[in-house]
Amino acid sequence: MNQAWIALGSNIAPRETYLQQAIQTLSEHEEIKLKQISTVYETDPVGYEDQDQFLNMVAEVETNLDPLELLHICQDIEQDLGRKRIIRWGPRTVDLDILLYSNENMNVEELILPHPRMHERAFVLVPLAEIAAELPLKGKSVQEWLDALPTRDVQGVRVWGSLNI
Ligand code: ADP
Ligand code: MG
Repeated sequence: MNQAWIALGSNIAPRETYLQQAIQTLSEHEEIKLKQISTVYETDPVGYEDQDQFLNMVAEVETNLDPLELLHICQDIEQDLGRKRIIRWGPRTVDLDILLYSNENMNVEELILPHPRMHERAFVLVPLAEIAAELPLKGKSVQEWLDALPTRDVQGVRVWGSLNI
């Protein structure tokens, strides 16, 4: 079994429904076992800032699927939930990124592991630290990466609530 962490985000209403449906679809997959989910956080947009606030969370799963198979399932979920790619980093019904897949280091066109920007994103590190603070990532723990972020970034990530799973 491999252990993988997936970041989920949505900033198009109904945001919590998109997260809920994405988590449910993952958990119902025969080859995926849902282990843990974080709290849901409301976050200020990063990158392209002229858009609505996001809900973000992180899930831990166990799977025998290989990394690319898992990515394709995540992309199928995005498609099924009607994601439209109009603006890079812009509004989306739901975005699923694979953060880590066991100790895999991968760099192919479709998939980079660990996710190349996760260690600088408060909206990833805050929920991930909640369920996996000691997880090693590029020579530090998740918590250490989080502690190294500017306070302003961390303040942009606020507890929103929990999914009813
Ligand atoms: P972002 O997640 O950065 O906001 P997208 O969701 O549009 O942007 O992803 C763009 C591309 O990133 C996808 O086509 C996918 O193949 C690639 N990609 C590379 N590494 C990963 C990863 N770890 N998880 C998910 N997608 C990834
Ligand atoms: Mg993505």
